[in-house]
Amino acid sequence: MAIKDYYRILQVERTATKEEIKKAYRRLAREWHPDVNPDPSAKERFREINEAYHILSDDARRQEYDRILQSGDEKKYRDFMEYIQEFLEGIWQGMRRAPKPRRGQDIRLRVELTLEEAAFGTEKEVEYERWIDCPHCRGLGHVGEPEKVVCHACGGTGRRVSGIFNFPRPCSLCKGRGYLIKNLCPTCGGRGRVAKKSKVKVSIPPGTDEGEVLKVAGFGHTGERGGEAGDLYLRVSLKPHHVFRKVGRDLHVEHFISFPMAVLGGTLKIKGLGGEEIEVFLQPGTECGSTKTLPGKGFPSSVGAGNLVVTFRIQVPKEVSSRLRGLLEKLAKELGDEGVEVRAGLVEKLKSLIPL
Ligand SMILES: [Zn+2]
Ligand SMILES: [Zn+2]
Repeated sequence: MAIKDYYRILQVERTATKEEIKKAYRRLAREWHPDVNPDPSAKERFREINEAYHILSDDARRQEYDRILQSGDEKKYRDFMEYIQEFLEGIWQGMRRAPKPRRGQDIRLRVELTLEEAAFGTEKEVEYERWIDCPHCRGLGHVGEPEKVVCHACGGTGRRVSGIFNFPRPCSLCKGRGYLIKNLCPTCGGRGRVAKKSKVKVSIPPGTDEGEVLKVAGFGHTGERGGEAGDLYLRVSLKPHHVFRKVGRDLHVEHFISFPMAVLGGTLKIKGLGGEEIEVFLQPGTECGSTKTLPGKGFPSSVGAGNLVVTFRIQVPKEVSSRLRGLLEKLAKELGDEGVEVRAGLVEKLKSLIPL
């Protein structure tokens, strides 16, 4: 195995400083990068240039190489090359491996529903912002054929040697591609994606409950480099209702009854969540604040409907006609309620004073 003269490959003196080596490497890497140089030998030259640079730019490796070069010991050179083989492989991996497509990120949003929408299902339009493929460059990041220039940070290998372990990592500037693109798309600045307000119609199935998560596949952020889009996840939260109060799967409602109904009992009609009328039989002697549970008439969730719990309140009329007043006074007397203010005939007296 003939010993390669890395100084000649980099076109520098054997006494060259680190800075001179770096400068020479960058110039030659740009010139011989196979992406920009059509010469069939460019790939091999580029490899050699990189091999030379990664040996001469490291103090320990350069000292070892200098000793071998002076002695002319080919066996030692072969051992040395075997020893650094893994390291060089790390550099070439950046060259061979094109960046993988990446799946777009998922988006998580909250969707607010009324009790009726959640119980009986609906179609809901959701507006949100997400990344989509740039319409100007169709996600490529550049318009027309890409004008590639060799990445100056990694010399085109797509890998940079950094950190205390001296191990080649993907170059952060060119994202491991080894080149930068000059004619970036002006709309997206080369990212290939733009933020856009999006609308999606989501079908809410009947019986959707608080905290349930609905998945809308493919409506998350767009993927990168042809990767598939993420998903949209909608977490359901229920708005408070002006009539019904939801407790678990049960619905609570207050219903006003008259005093005679409370005393004598009877049948009455109560409106359910869907507006349907439910006939309820009321026991004689119903107390104010007492409840009645109607099984299966509550919230119709996907795991079965809850109960409707009715709390009865006694309606107290705020305005009383003279006829009703008379009746109530009689009732009070019957019940022995002596404290009731009896004002019989007062209205009639007032009427006689006002000439009509
Ligand atoms: Zn780079
Ligand atoms: Zn674009």
